[in-house]
Amino acid sequence: MSDPKKYGFTTTILHSDRQKPIEHGSLHKPIHTAVAFGYQDARELAEVFQGKKSGYRYGRQGNPTVAALEDKITGMEQAAATICFATGMAAIGALTQALLRAGDHVVSSAFLFGNTNSLWQTVTQQGIDVSFVDATAVANVEAALTPATRIVFVETIANPRTQVADLARIGELCRQRGILYVVDNTMTTPYLFRPKDVHAGLVVNALTKAIGGHGNALGGSLTDTGLYDWARYPNIFDTYKRYPTPQWGMAQIRAKSLRDFGASLSPESAHHLAVGAETMALRMERECANALALAQMLEADERVAAVHYPGLPSHPQHTLSRDLFSAYGGLFSFELKEGIDCFDYMNRLKLAVPASNLGDTRTLVIPVAHTIFYEMGPERRASMGIAESLIRVSVGIEDTADLLEDFKQAF
Ligand SMILES: *Cc1c(COP(=O)(O)O)cnc(C)c1O
Repeated sequence: MSDPKKYGFTTTILHSDRQKPIEHGSLHKPIHTAVAFGYQDARELAEVFQGKKSGYRYGRQGNPTVAALEDKITGMEQAAATICFATGMAAIGALTQALLRAGDHVVSSAFLFGNTNSLWQTVTQQGIDVSFVDATAVANVEAALTPATRIVFVETIANPRTQVADLARIGELCRQRGILYVVDNTMTTPYLFRPKDVHAGLVVNALTKAIGGHGNALGGSLTDTGLYDWARYPNIFDTYKRYPTPQWGMAQIRAKSLRDFGASLSPESAHHLAVGAETMALRMERECANALALAQMLEADERVAAVHYPGLPSHPQHTLSRDLFSAYGGLFSFELKEGIDCFDYMNRLKLAVPASNLGDTRTLVIPVAHTIFYEMGPERRASMGIAESLIRVSVGIEDTADLLEDFKQAF
């Protein structure tokens, strides 16, 4: 692994642990459970605490097993640095804790993961102003910018209605204005899309989903692509300006969010997620192929009112998606025609499981308006394009014919 850049996506992940000395030649990074790290020289301990020497201080701020996963994600995103958190929401919450102050303004896509939407409502109560815009057109983002705008936040393919943000044009706008552009890459994963290519400064990945991929561990990450000039960010504390400028953002996030709020990823979870990541590309290929086949079959069925999947030519951002992503993802949603009850339909599915995760190896279905988007109420749901009968499907790696048969026989 002398030059990781020359290897492909999966090869790089499989061999990334060995880029640094690994204990006893273990082919997996071992699970380090120690919370404290001892130094033979007390002065060395002080230097580590002062950031003058690299090393681990205390498990809340970092751990060798977690650091190996952070390196893997940095490699996948071809970026500069990554910090892992206990969950995807902890990673997004870290942004607000570390980087935003009362009086700041955020422009966010209106088409959002439900809990991210709720988080923005929470910070609104803390003196941060959030504008929700239709981010499928850059003009809406531009119109919402104010002199106090610190962050523009979008998802690649929105969950569950699959609207695709105008990613490249928003990136160019943020670059011109010196605004931090944050892209939640969970739905596309770094295998289908790298936000760095559209000039994102920070990338969010919910590792719980496709990267871990087996529904057996929670985790999240923030990745600094290295493209944002932190000297232009007004809220950096002087203590973190001791570091070279490219490190300011991550230094502040690691201290102000991970250290002070403590949503640290456990080493056991980091291990599960790292093992899952090894097969992410293989799983994504199967999931994307299955999703396209199912979406096409349902769209052709007269009992279906609408299918939302960027891989279908009928999707409003189909061409944009084709230009941006190497495939269209493993998630789609659909609406049944009036008269067919969405609960009855889901109950007749024999393979697909009613559950709220996504990016699992198994196909999962959920009635969106009645579960994950229930709390926000009918008005906000309508503004996000969420019909009361909408079923979200997170497509797994089952054999394609079995899935097609399951969704057909359930009518
Ligand atoms: C699931 C998800 C999150 C949150 O991740 P958790 O690990 O469940 O906290 C954030 N963004 C998107 C797009 C998601 O799908």
